[in-house]
Amino acid sequence: MKVLVASAWPYVNYVPHLGTMIGSILSADVFARYARLKYGKDNVVFVSGSDEHGTPIEIEAIKRKTNPKSLTDQAHEYDKHLFLDVWEISFNNYSRTESETHKSFVMDFFKKLEKYMITREEDIPYCEYDKLYLPDRFVRGTCPYCGYEDATGDQCENCGRLLTPSMLINPRCAICGRKPIFKKTKHWFFDLTSFSDKVKEWLEKSETMPNNVKSVALSWISEGLKPRSLTRDNSWGIPAPFEGAENKTIYVWFEALLGYISATKEYFINKGEPEKWKEFWFGKDVISYYFIGKDNIPFHAIILPAMLMATNENYVLPTVISATEYLLFDKLKFSKSKKIGVWIDEAPYIVDIEYWRFALVRMRPEEKDTSFTWKEFVRIVNTELNDDIGNYINRVLTMVNRYFNGEIPGYREEIYKDEDRQLIKLITESPKKSSELYDRGKLKAATDPLLELARFANGYLNTRAPWDLIKNNRDEAANVLYITANSIRTIAIMLYPLMPRHAQQIYDLLNLGNIEDEKWDNAGEFILKPGHKIKSEIKPLFKKLDPDFEKNVEEKLEKIREELTKTRPPLLK
Ligand SMILES: [Zn+2]
Ligand SMILES: [Zn+2]
Repeated sequence: MKVLVASAWPYVNYVPHLGTMIGSILSADVFARYARLKYGKDNVVFVSGSDEHGTPIEIEAIKRKTNPKSLTDQAHEYDKHLFLDVWEISFNNYSRTESETHKSFVMDFFKKLEKYMITREEDIPYCEYDKLYLPDRFVRGTCPYCGYEDATGDQCENCGRLLTPSMLINPRCAICGRKPIFKKTKHWFFDLTSFSDKVKEWLEKSETMPNNVKSVALSWISEGLKPRSLTRDNSWGIPAPFEGAENKTIYVWFEALLGYISATKEYFINKGEPEKWKEFWFGKDVISYYFIGKDNIPFHAIILPAMLMATNENYVLPTVISATEYLLFDKLKFSKSKKIGVWIDEAPYIVDIEYWRFALVRMRPEEKDTSFTWKEFVRIVNTELNDDIGNYINRVLTMVNRYFNGEIPGYREEIYKDEDRQLIKLITESPKKSSELYDRGKLKAATDPLLELARFANGYLNTRAPWDLIKNNRDEAANVLYITANSIRTIAIMLYPLMPRHAQQIYDLLNLGNIEDEKWDNAGEFILKPGHKIKSEIKPLFKKLDPDFEKNVEEKLEKIREELTKTRPPLLK
């Protein structure tokens, strides 16, 4: 079995916020870490990269009198550092759309699709001063409906009506303020219409595709798929490889989707195995997982499969598209200008990044939009992480040291009580339950069995009270600590996808090796045998957030943000 894990490519002109993180990259990482234990390290490839082309960045470069590449070079490095070094994202390859492998792959790919291209003439606003075709949002003018003077060419922000640039009264270029002219220009459209039936059939037949993705995609299809405009008249992008399309580039959305393939290819080229990427894209036993926000469903469930089908090369189509609903911030949309939210370079200054990882997965909006609140964050860290998991581990291991000299005690099955058997059953079953949910792309739900196990085990420990048993029933105390110590190993493996560093710390306390060499399917087994020695010094794994945390955090955040604004690269300020 080969497993491809793909996370939506973040557009490189902003620092991702918590919502972007749980909507794509962090979710994909949690799944990839699970999948490596489940299916074997070498069978999993996890890719993403910076999406860096397109007019917004080209225009930013014009405004700053520099070139787009120098802006995205810095922004790419900044984001990449945050993902790899700060957020512990375990990409096999975090690439970028400026990579040579990507650019040549994209041109070859679309050359093969030329027979599915339709050309049409369009009237596009053009600024003669900036020598630039202006995308809709870069034309401003007066709204024909309400008279609002600063409407953009796609929508009036005052009355909410949808517009086109030619509808604006007194249109002006958003860069220089001059009046644009309208120029006829030829564009290439991908004939999505002819793939309607094939994509529909594929979606309806799929037994793995989550329902929310199916229903959004099928309703798009039932409304009728139109040819999608594939080319743009800007220069910051990948040249369109069609005859007569000189000076045109491929629309960023189409080329970024192909990044999943080119990044896999690049990964294996860099490893010196240039053909091996094909095992992940044409193999018979490949499963592929895409982690995206719900607004990206049509691109991944319709356009990507249609493009792959159009090659006639038997590309593997998505197995599971795990599309999250929106994460809101205290019921509001994240907004940089309104200072609503937390950005991923700010987060590590608030608490250990693994607390964020844990809390965000526990809040993952799988069924409906979910609001991030500091109150809920505190509850998850203090109660779920610290009390349910951390204290339990601490209590058990301290008692193994105190009562049994740091050795896993021997056990006597003939005196097992019902509660003992219940906990053993839960230890065996929890990783399986969790695994089934991970395989369906339900990550938050997949962590519920971990919390259920920890809570049950805590209650069990209180009822069985080994600190009393030890006084006159040493064999039963031994049974309790034998079972609970083994449950800690299970908990560590189940915690690993969320908190890899802390999971390894638990493994270190248990005096076990590298947790990344474990197999998920063995997580419920009793590997700690009587006589196995654990670490003698047991320190608490987690810390509660202090009582004033909620009161002070926004102020603290404000200061951090002020500092970071000075050091962020120009494109990300
Ligand atoms: Zn209006
Ligand atoms: Zn202009």
